[in-house]
Formats: sequence, C-alpha cells, structure tokens
Amino acid sequence: MSFHILKSRLYWRKNWDSLCNRCGKCCYARSVKSDGDVIIHYNKPCENLDPQTHLCKIYKDRFRKCNHCGKVTLFTALFNPTLPKDCNYVQTFRLWKK
Ligand code: SF4
Ligand code: SF4
Repeated sequence: MSFHILKSRLYWRKNWDSLCNRCGKCCYARSVKSDGDVIIHYNKPCENLDPQTHLCKIYKDRFRKCNHCGKVTLFTALFNPTLPKDCNYVQTFRLWKK
C-alpha cells in the first residue's frame, strides 16, 4: 500500500463516514461497462433510499436490515469496480486514477 494511501486512511480513520458526500449513487443498482465506466440504474434504487433526499431511511441499522448493503471499506474504495468514479472514497483513495 502506498504511503499516501496509508496516510490518508489514517487521517480519515475517526471520520470515515464523513467522507461520504451523500450522493446516494451507491444505493442504486449499477453495472460496469467494458471500459470500466459505471452505469447507475436510477430506475432501480434500494428500497430503503429516500429518492428526494438521497439519504438512507434506515441508516443506523442498514447493515443489519438490508442484505445487499455493504460498508465502504478501504478495500472497496480502492478496488470495487461498481463504485462510481465521483464517489468521494474513490476520489480520495484511487490516486493512480487521477
Ligand atoms: S457513492 Fe460514495 S459518496 Fe456517494 S453515497 Fe455512496 S459512498 Fe457516499
Ligand atoms: S440500505 Fe444501504 S444501499 Fe439501501 S439506501 Fe441504505 S445505505 Fe443505501
């Protein structure tokens, strides 16, 4: 792991969730094109997403109550191909894409 990624992860360790800009894009079904671009299927939101506010209606219990909801970890921030490119975790950690 590069020094810059590690330094950034340590910097954000206490405020990990605040990195999320609450765009809600990871709460829709997504697919990945052959060139790596992420397609967000805005007609297929998670049933727990409030489409007006882009906020989760069960935020505190989301991992327990929703079986397709996953926490964004450093690993997913770095490598999950379905996270949109403008996701703030992607922007913060995929430094080689900039
Ligand atoms: S795509 Fe990224 S920034 Fe947007 S809501 Fe999901 S985790 Fe947060
Ligand atoms: S349960 Fe997870 S995927 Fe569904 S709206 Fe909430 S945060 Fe998004």
